[in-house]
Amino acid sequence: MKTVMGGVVALLLAGSAAAMEPKAAVQAVDAQIAKDWPKLDALYKDIHAHPELAFQETRSAALLAKEMRALGFTVTEGVGKTGVVAILKNGAGPTIMLRTEMDGLPMEEKSGLPYASRVQVETPDGGKTFVAESCGHDNHMAWWVGAARTLLAMKTQWKGTLMFIAQPAEEVGKGAHAMLDDGLFTKFPKPDFAIGAHVGSGLAGTVGVKDGAATSNSDTLEITFKGRGAHGSMPSASIDPIVMGAHFVTDVQSVVSREREAASFGVVTVGSFQAGTVANIIPDTALVKLSIRSFSPEVRTKLLDGVTRTAKGAAIMAGAPEPVIAHPGENHAVINDHKLSVEAADYLTKAGGDTIQYVRPELPGWSASEDFSAYGEQGVPSLFYSIGGYDAATLAEYAKKGQAVPTNHSPFFTPDHDKAIPTGIRTLALTVLMLAPAS
Ligand SMILES: [Zn+2]
Ligand SMILES: [Zn+2]
Repeated sequence: MKTVMGGVVALLLAGSAAAMEPKAAVQAVDAQIAKDWPKLDALYKDIHAHPELAFQETRSAALLAKEMRALGFTVTEGVGKTGVVAILKNGAGPTIMLRTEMDGLPMEEKSGLPYASRVQVETPDGGKTFVAESCGHDNHMAWWVGAARTLLAMKTQWKGTLMFIAQPAEEVGKGAHAMLDDGLFTKFPKPDFAIGAHVGSGLAGTVGVKDGAATSNSDTLEITFKGRGAHGSMPSASIDPIVMGAHFVTDVQSVVSREREAASFGVVTVGSFQAGTVANIIPDTALVKLSIRSFSPEVRTKLLDGVTRTAKGAAIMAGAPEPVIAHPGENHAVINDHKLSVEAADYLTKAGGDTIQYVRPELPGWSASEDFSAYGEQGVPSLFYSIGGYDAATLAEYAKKGQAVPTNHSPFFTPDHDKAIPTGIRTLALTVLMLAPAS
């Protein structure tokens, strides 16, 4: 009897804090998106035309801070150099962090759009580089503002604290740590959940909800092979670091093809090989830069060990000193919380509708990586969605031309933002409505 009573009380409690019915929720969200669209479209185009590099996102940060202040959020700027934290309390409930990135990439946009970026900035070495929103962070900033507007308009449908953060320097893998080191989870409330999303080159209207590793571990290694320089006509007087490096570049792929377990994901890419100046001088050193990707910690360790061993082996073969191996960059895989992924996939699938397809957790993770992992590593259950960027007509056009669809970091990557941004808003807003029901 006691047990039955307990069950009834629990049921009543759960019933009193039920999330908004998913179909009604998506309808209300869509109605608000329609109202806000002209403003969000203009904001997106403005940000797209004015991209900024990592830790220089002052214009974007000011734009976002202004939007959030106007909505009634308490806004702090300059967190982790250029980051923004916007907090809004709406009764008793969970604290939910929603994150956008703000940085563009040092590359030239070739989309041909009327609002394409022509921005150029100086580089630390005194040169110049174009800057472009080729990762889609412009879409993210617009859907982040859109989600805030929608949730404010639907304030009676949820209870809790919103913690909207705009993070700098994702592309260089340093922004999340900069914000955390600046007190993101100590000066501000440590959230109960952390939510993020990234636009990609899939079908617009689809949302990937991956249970487990959503993005890869990413490690950057820089290996300096130390030889002995000599005249190009006298190779026997040298220890040739170019030959050493060349052996390494080909041999290192055996780590992937022979040592990595076949069904697991692992990539070793040599993205840079720098050595020498002219044809008749054998240089002293060769510098090889690698990007190493994996999902599991075991594969990560195996690849890092294998690459290190192969580099040392190449030096031994050449009779050279041990190479110097630096490890300047490290991002861990974003691990989506199991319970959160399953519940979100269920809620979003029920919301469904004709224009939104929610993809279930069986998807493979992204081979790209993301410093969003840093928030989950602080013990906050986190979820990182992937959002389709191209509508069916755009995908069909590329297929007809026999061309590959431009992916993130391509100079042609410009998602159909009028589809991608609303999907991002629905996804973020529905997640909050699910996690923070009004009692
Ligand atoms: Zn990127
Ligand atoms: Zn990105």
